[in-house]
Amino acid sequence: MPFKTIIEPFKIKSVEPIHMSTEAERCEYIKEAHYNPFLLHSSQVIIDLLTDSGTSAMSSEQWAGMMRGDESYAGAQSWERLEAEIQDLTGYPYVLPTHQGRAAERILYSYLGGKGKIFISNTHFDTTRANIEFSGATAIDIPCAEARHADSADPFKGNMDIEMLKQTISTYGEENIAAVILTVTNNSGGGQPVSMKNAKAVAAVCHKHNLLFIIDCCRIAENAYFIHHKEPGYDTVSYREIAQEMFALADGCIMSAKKDALVNMGGFLALKDEELATACTNLLIITEGFVTYGGLSGRDMEAIAIGLREVFDPGYLNYRIKSTAYLGEHIRNIGVPLLYPIGGHAVYVDAGALYPHIPSDQYPGQVLVCELYKKGGIRAVEIGSVMFGKYDKHGRLIPAPKELVRLAIPRRVYTQSHIDYVIEVFEELQKNKNNTQGLKITREPKFLRHFTAHFEPYKTEPVLA
Ligand SMILES: *Cc1c(COP(=O)(O)O)cnc(C)c1O
Repeated sequence: MPFKTIIEPFKIKSVEPIHMSTEAERCEYIKEAHYNPFLLHSSQVIIDLLTDSGTSAMSSEQWAGMMRGDESYAGAQSWERLEAEIQDLTGYPYVLPTHQGRAAERILYSYLGGKGKIFISNTHFDTTRANIEFSGATAIDIPCAEARHADSADPFKGNMDIEMLKQTISTYGEENIAAVILTVTNNSGGGQPVSMKNAKAVAAVCHKHNLLFIIDCCRIAENAYFIHHKEPGYDTVSYREIAQEMFALADGCIMSAKKDALVNMGGFLALKDEELATACTNLLIITEGFVTYGGLSGRDMEAIAIGLREVFDPGYLNYRIKSTAYLGEHIRNIGVPLLYPIGGHAVYVDAGALYPHIPSDQYPGQVLVCELYKKGGIRAVEIGSVMFGKYDKHGRLIPAPKELVRLAIPRRVYTQSHIDYVIEVFEELQKNKNNTQGLKITREPKFLRHFTAHFEPYKTEPVLA
């Protein structure tokens, strides 16, 4: 196409007003929120890039489906539609609906886990790791070597390290490996995609050792886009067929429908093996609900079934991936350091490199999220020493490996002009970057402190870099 503007492949039927605050108001709001954007009211935010989870805009078809939702307790038509859609997409015969992704994880991993069991993944997502560790089992991450190089242009930095997989199996013994989990795209690894070649290699190792292979498929449509465009031999295969080919390699999948199913709530577990499915179904009934609804309303199931189709639409996926890249490329061009290449659902800014004069224990990532909010009303999340830092026995901070800030893009929510505005805010922040000041923590809970910690500005004079 001769045009460079990626137009949104939809028209707007219903709008949600944004309150346009002033910078002076926002400086007050962020102070009241103790310099932690998680404590802001959403009404105080102009552009909310906190997460892509459950923040999608549904289509008119999905809303029509909501009206058709069959709320029967057992055997609802909405369930039958969802089950058929998931079976067709994944090829797995046994489908268990759940209220969100982590419920599916709790069911499968508590059944497979327990003390002495090992799970291996390219990178376990937080809730995946939490469910595995809660069962007493151990979660081991083995991302590929390229993933550690922030500016390596390798197109599939979400891959698993196959040599490490073989080594880990021989170290722990195949009888102790509960499952191998491939997260596509690799969320905690920067939203980077996984190649089909890598998925095939993982499958081959699993078959050889008779290990269960599970795909965490939250963003499998976005992943399919990268395979289609970047992996040799896939440019004539449709996005949906690419996903189907990947599902066929594994024994089952877990999905948070809050991502690529384009809904605000929901999830599922789908499996090939009848015996495993029966064991999981027993757990499903205890905590989620009857087998034909899990934790979901009929209308939710209807919306998921439709979303799972819409997400593979080439117009949608082109807009989705290109608009994430548009934000990333533009702020990179004005000198903002970030993880590269840009992943599917988010842009990860390297705040440590942006603010080299702010040491880790003054939280450069948290400083950037506060600056983004004050300057532009943009809400993002710190993924650095606030989220992952620990203390040594003298109470000194052991920093996270990187001080990142994630700008996650909600699906079908913002237009190019919203994103152009975000780019302009970064331009302003660039001009003033040497005058920013660190933050210190004044109050923090014992676990998951990033959600509720309080901060205040460091009182020293700003150090000029
Ligand atoms: C969001 C997410 C989950 C958990 O799903 P929830 O619906 O938030 O419970 C699991 N894995 C990955 C990769 C995710 O992104």
